[in-house]
Amino acid sequence: MNALIQPHEYPDRSHTLLAETHEVINVGSELVDYDMYRQDAALVEAVHREGAAWADDSLSRFGRLTGSAEYLELGVLANRFQPELETHDRFGHRIDLVKFHPAYHQLMRSAIEHGLHSSPWTDPRGGAHVARAAHSYLQGQVEAGHGCPVTMTFAAVPSLRTTPALAADWLPRITARTYDPRNVPDGQKAGLTIGMAMTEKQGGSDVRANTTRAYPVGAATGPGAAYELVGHKYFVSAPMCDAFLVLAQAPGGLSCFLLPRWRPDGTKNPLQVIRLKRKMGNASNASSETELRGALAWMVGEEGRGVRTIIEMVSMTRFDCMIGSSSAQRAAVALALHHCARRSAFGRKLAEQPLMENVLADLVLEHEGSLALTMRIARAMDHRDDPHEDALVRLVTSVGKYWICKRTPQHAYEAMECIGGSGVMEDSPFPRLYREAPVNAIWEGSGNVQCLDVLRAMSRTPAVVDVFFAELGKARGANAGLDRCVEALKVEFADRTDFEYRSRQIVDRMALTMQAALLVQHAPSAVADAFCASRLEGAGHRQYGTLPRTADCAAIIERATPRV
Ligand SMILES: Cc1cc2nc3c(=O)[nH]c(=O)nc-3n(C[C@H](O)[C@H](O)[C@H](O)COP(=O)(O)OP(=O)(O)OC[C@H]3O[C@@H](n4cnc5c(N)ncnc54)[C@H](O)[C@@H]3O)c2cc1C
Repeated sequence: MNALIQPHEYPDRSHTLLAETHEVINVGSELVDYDMYRQDAALVEAVHREGAAWADDSLSRFGRLTGSAEYLELGVLANRFQPELETHDRFGHRIDLVKFHPAYHQLMRSAIEHGLHSSPWTDPRGGAHVARAAHSYLQGQVEAGHGCPVTMTFAAVPSLRTTPALAADWLPRITARTYDPRNVPDGQKAGLTIGMAMTEKQGGSDVRANTTRAYPVGAATGPGAAYELVGHKYFVSAPMCDAFLVLAQAPGGLSCFLLPRWRPDGTKNPLQVIRLKRKMGNASNASSETELRGALAWMVGEEGRGVRTIIEMVSMTRFDCMIGSSSAQRAAVALALHHCARRSAFGRKLAEQPLMENVLADLVLEHEGSLALTMRIARAMDHRDDPHEDALVRLVTSVGKYWICKRTPQHAYEAMECIGGSGVMEDSPFPRLYREAPVNAIWEGSGNVQCLDVLRAMSRTPAVVDVFFAELGKARGANAGLDRCVEALKVEFADRTDFEYRSRQIVDRMALTMQAALLVQHAPSAVADAFCASRLEGAGHRQYGTLPRTADCAAIIERATPRV
């Protein structure tokens, strides 16, 4: 107390005790406790259109789970408390153990119990890939990092099927809906997860530069035979997986191997984790650097055909990148729409301010195009016995992986800006969405590699080009701008000079015309018309919020805004 003021003279400040400083008004609210499936009209339509209407109830149940506050919090916790590596136990034994927060394990368990790693393999009916894609897309809006081992486990199946002796033993446990995170030999587990280790220091895209060597253990060589691998792998995500598909140089050339974490005799297989990477995003998922000191592995597929064998897995993971980035776009735009429907500035809700309407509608259009393309490829994966569908998977997965993943960082940033300053804060979902956004574009074949893959598919199997234009032809006559773009693309394709140099430009156009063709056939006209007008015509699309005057922004926003 101030000694100069006597108690009876102390000024009456009771008003500071009675009143709060201010009332908290005109702020956003959490987007929680809603049916993430039913509140996403574009998703519901795509699921029904592409052949998985039978999964509608399951998706709605799952959507209520993924949209619940409790479940969404698991995603927050799994990223806040990041994985830690223990190379040895306290007695000095090598253990290579990565410890995760329980929230990560809960997400993994839920993903596996819902069959996100296996349902099209265990229940291969029409629409199975579509249904799995939709479930994965919902799960991805909760948390992206744990999707990495779930995807790799799913994607390993076609590669392993090339070697029946291994498939018979491993596939029933890989596809089982049992999550067992214990650091014990696979023989003690009913459910297994699978990782992938291709990238080395001297080459990631160029895997033929791999230096890891494979030495036959006995007299037998070739598919299913045992080898010991010596070398390193510079990126091994989810190192707690029970086994990994690995590339190494066998005497007959670069080959694919299945490498378990433990040897069948119960000793540790020397796949040693040197350290965990310090990543800018994808924080819940451990990614490691490893050394292989004579690690036991069995050959998968033919000797010298390692790239051919593992590409089966890689093409599946590329498709999952399309799902993951479409999911990230939906998470971002749903949060932005939810916020702008609540927050007012200058006397009107943000969502009703003309310029903000333009931005929000444009973000919605981006997501609509991404989801439509992803779900179309999911349907093609359900019908690979049809040559048209098979060719679409072969060509358009690379197109979609390139385009959708590449469009996501700017989309995340622009959605963050819709929130304003609070969007930048670490207690908002946006920093995680933003840091995660570039990852899908870089791994599983970065942008240029996807473009080169498109060219490779076109030169090795020229029929894919006819299939591509036949698919676009289904939309002929629906939109004059689209028709003009398709004709211009045919001219581009006919000129093969500097084709590699021009390939981003060409793949950009392939993606946009394919998205537009899907939307003009299936989306409401407000969506399709604005998509075509903004993406196919005019002076380009350099920023979001540059839709032409003709766009019916209110209708586009209305359809996409979650009702909570
Ligand atoms: C978070 C994270 C986790 C990962 N986890 C795994 C994992 O579990 N297993 C695994 O095997 N790998 C993993 N990777 C590695 C990833 O797959 C590689 O980083 C990626 O394939 C690129 O390889 P690189 O890093 O060696 O780059 P590089 O191959 O050197 O490529 C660098 C750039 O050059 C471009 N480029 C390459 N070739 C050409 C060309 N001919 N023409 C034009 N441009 C070209 C690429 O597109 C890229 O932009 C992970 C990566 C990240 C970021």
